[in-house]
Amino acid sequence: MEEVGTGLLDRLDAMQRVAASAPGGPLLIVAGPGTGKTRTLTHRIAYLCAELNVFPEQCLAITFTRRAAEELRHRLDGLLGPVAEDVTVGTFHSLGLTILRENAEAAGLPVDFRIADDADRAAARAEAGDDPEAYTGLLRKRDLVDLDELLTLPVALLRADRKLVREYRERWKWIFVDEYQDVDAVQYELLRLLSPADGNLCAIGDPDQAIYSFRGAEVGYFLRFSQDFTDARLVRLNRNYRSSAPILAAAVQAIAPSSLVRGRRLDPARLDPEAPLVGRYAAASVADEADFLVRTIDDLVGGLSHRSLDSGRIDGRSTSLSFSDIAVLYRTDSQAAPIVDALARANIPVQKRSHDRLRDRPGVTAIARELRHAGLDGSLAARVRLAGQVLAERFAVPTLDGSGSVRPEDVRVAVDLLTPLARRCGDDLELFLSQLATGAEVDALDPRAEAVTLLTLHAAKGLEFPVVFLVGAEDGLLPLRWPGSEPDEDAVAEERRLFFVGLTRAQDRLYVSHAGRRTRHGTERECRPSPFLDVIDPGLFERFGEPEVRRPRDRQLRLI
Ligand code: ATP
Ligand code: MG
Repeated sequence: MEEVGTGLLDRLDAMQRVAASAPGGPLLIVAGPGTGKTRTLTHRIAYLCAELNVFPEQCLAITFTRRAAEELRHRLDGLLGPVAEDVTVGTFHSLGLTILRENAEAAGLPVDFRIADDADRAAARAEAGDDPEAYTGLLRKRDLVDLDELLTLPVALLRADRKLVREYRERWKWIFVDEYQDVDAVQYELLRLLSPADGNLCAIGDPDQAIYSFRGAEVGYFLRFSQDFTDARLVRLNRNYRSSAPILAAAVQAIAPSSLVRGRRLDPARLDPEAPLVGRYAAASVADEADFLVRTIDDLVGGLSHRSLDSGRIDGRSTSLSFSDIAVLYRTDSQAAPIVDALARANIPVQKRSHDRLRDRPGVTAIARELRHAGLDGSLAARVRLAGQVLAERFAVPTLDGSGSVRPEDVRVAVDLLTPLARRCGDDLELFLSQLATGAEVDALDPRAEAVTLLTLHAAKGLEFPVVFLVGAEDGLLPLRWPGSEPDEDAVAEERRLFFVGLTRAQDRLYVSHAGRRTRHGTERECRPSPFLDVIDPGLFERFGEPEVRRPRDRQLRLI
């Protein structure tokens, strides 16, 4: 645990300190990538508790993903010690679940209501036909709640009951929301109910990293924060601690045409004159692009001699980079397969980060039910294993909707996938089941694994790696476009923000590549480099391979 008290803010720069130590009232922190948002947020909570006599149990910190919530919790533990446990940290869904459990009766639900899983939903849908009223009625009759309702039901409850609103406002006097740019309409309404217009609401985020409008997120809520909340204080963090100067310069130029932040500035804290330029590789084909990855990773990690050691680390000293320092980012999941193949052929270990939800995996539902009903003994992880054994022995478990059966091998895979979550939840079965229900992801990403990480640009948000390869920087993929359709201006702007998120994941080395030919939707087509590259000063690039031949645009090319 770090020393709490006077030294608490020593590890922050001047602006971060202003943000962390700002007095109560609405506070908006507009902070670009790599400017230390989480650091500032956690230090603010710690500072308020240590210096301003705020009680940890009066603090509510909300993030968007379970992973981000765990990270926040972990950092708070480090700063505050055991009292950090009293801070409520969670996702919007887990917050909704808490409110609903505490007010189940008022919502017409039994206290032990369950969140509907896929089998429940399929069954209700089959029975209700296409009558959405009937559907909800069936769920309710079975004491089930849909995932969306974890937010809509608490909002309805609070809207109808001012006394309840006052109670929650009394409990959570201090609210912190990370990644505020990704708030959607229902989440926004919940926040407005939980925080008075002059409340101690601290919102932190970066409008230029708003990449979830396809899921209903609305960056407009961020932009109008000062209209919604009285006398909101605004703090900007402009100092980027993550990326080398050339990487940062390229990223700032890339976002400029679509930036939602007036006078967007990102000043590099790192000013190494030796910092390499941004690598750019014009590949002839997807296979050529994958070869480039293999060659470059080989060079970076120290060639074959180190391969057998799994990394370039010897005696704990870093002689060069290790595989886990490297990430490959792409726009669509379908780009992963040829890369995985090429790296695997070259004996480079890879781990792919998945967005898939655990509860969508076959076998997971059956195990969850077994856990709930069988009353098994032992640690949660042991109970998961036991439930899996019991189920696998039955040979074939019918799915609840009768659409098929779960095979024993599915059950075994499900046990492996569920074990890490079970461990993280201690022995708390309810927490485990609610995390599963609220969308815990298949956690294929192990930060300690000695492997190159493969992930989509969306999944890369918030993360950082010493070396980043952004592959497939082509028109049609960035911005993404269906053949024959033209994305509108807003869609292109969001794609550009996604590109910006990708570039700003890199700390020391960034490589951008594009292929001259790529098969998409079953047809191989010629591709041009992404227009997003055109606004970056060519002097920031070091080109590898053949400079691409500029071809005149023709009809066929424009249809990519
Ligand atoms: P993103 O928008 O990409 O999520 P962020 O604003 O959340 O970025 P962080 O991940 O918190 O940024 O910080 C980026 C990096 O900078 C981290 O490695 C962090 O430790 C480091 N950092 C942040 N503030 C400081 C500081 N004052 N001194 C030194 N390093 C810092
Ligand atoms: Mg962050």
